Amino acid sequence: MDMNMKEYIDEAEAALLHTYNRYQIVWDRGDGMYLYDIEGKKYLDFVAGIAVFALGYNHKAYNDALKAQIDKVIHTSNYYYNIPAIEAAKKMKKISGMDRVFFTNSGAEAVEGAIKAARKYAFLRDGHTDHEIIAMNHSFHGRTMGALAVTGNPHYREAFEPLIGNIKFADFNDFESVKAQVTDKTCAIIFETIQGEGGIYPATEEFMKNIRALCDEKDILLILDEIQCGMGRTGMMYAWQRYGVKPDIMTTAKAVGCGIPVGAFLMTENVAKQSLTSGDHGTTYGGNPLACTAVSKVIDLFEEMDLLKTVEETGAYLYEKLEEITARHDCVKAHRGVGLMQGLECDCPVGDIINRAVEKGLLLINAGTNIIRFIPPLIVSKQDIDDMTAILDTCF
Ligand SMILES: *Cc1c(COP(=O)(O)O)cnc(C)c1O
Repeated sequence: MDMNMKEYIDEAEAALLHTYNRYQIVWDRGDGMYLYDIEGKKYLDFVAGIAVFALGYNHKAYNDALKAQIDKVIHTSNYYYNIPAIEAAKKMKKISGMDRVFFTNSGAEAVEGAIKAARKYAFLRDGHTDHEIIAMNHSFHGRTMGALAVTGNPHYREAFEPLIGNIKFADFNDFESVKAQVTDKTCAIIFETIQGEGGIYPATEEFMKNIRALCDEKDILLILDEIQCGMGRTGMMYAWQRYGVKPDIMTTAKAVGCGIPVGAFLMTENVAKQSLTSGDHGTTYGGNPLACTAVSKVIDLFEEMDLLKTVEETGAYLYEKLEEITARHDCVKAHRGVGLMQGLECDCPVGDIINRAVEKGLLLINAGTNIIRFIPPLIVSKQDIDDMTAILDTCF
């Protein structure tokens, strides 16, 4: 006999490591903008598995492509070539304008690779190690030791120190604070084009341009983390493309595989020629045929579905609707974001507001304690946005 939700949750809590305070929901399946729990309750999803499921759930062409690849081969090894990885790499180059791709299994691993590439570049140039990286306060780059070292949230880092050394922190969008941290040993500056977990803060154009100029002047590598804000979420394939400023190294993950665990770090030819080479970096799973089939199909579908254009329109509509919400509710203090990556900052912790929304069949997620984050699948319609705001209005 099937167990009920409570029984499954008890089993989960007895077996899984308790690193998350989870909502009391066990999922059964997804379809388009909706997720269904095992009791058949339906939820409008403005979380998308944390900015992952861009295409919407149960997308037939995507599922079919994966099924076909499963019946051919799922995994080989990076000691051989496979066609899905070749296709995915060519397409990644095209959508990003970068020159070389290394596929990883997650976002954090992409950040690790980016850090290694930057350190190796500086090592080859200067003939010594000990280089420094400048990261931003309130940034988020992942939970592994290197990614954690550049994550600007002391609470996440504290218990795990010492992490990799020589990381300095500056204030995001404050160019002078970054400049103040530059020394002869600085090899890279890393930040998210739009800070996600830190509270939906887009980089200003001035900041991006000043940082790029500084990096050019001092041969410092600019690493942009596009793991959350990339893959069409802002209406551009990558958020930096709106600024006319190009990174030397870029990370991507989350929506790039739409649910299959895959990420990548990409670099310019200039960095590739003078950084990681044979034996410097590797992964068993990274870039396997199944993961790369996902990447390849996702990129094709973005084009076929004209998702960037859709996001441009629905993003503007979401902006308008959240402006109205901001005006209607005194507790909402600020509204920020671009495209389908927006946030409402409240004058109180938003946990209760989100809990009430979940109760009413609407999935939302916080970013920090006081910010409600809106990161729906990119297929979200104006009607879905109206449905969302109607529910949200009753939750404050
Ligand atoms: C989610 C995220 C990461 C980490 O990705 P994982 O796949 O969870 O390791 C890194 N950087 C940013 C900006 C993210 O949003």
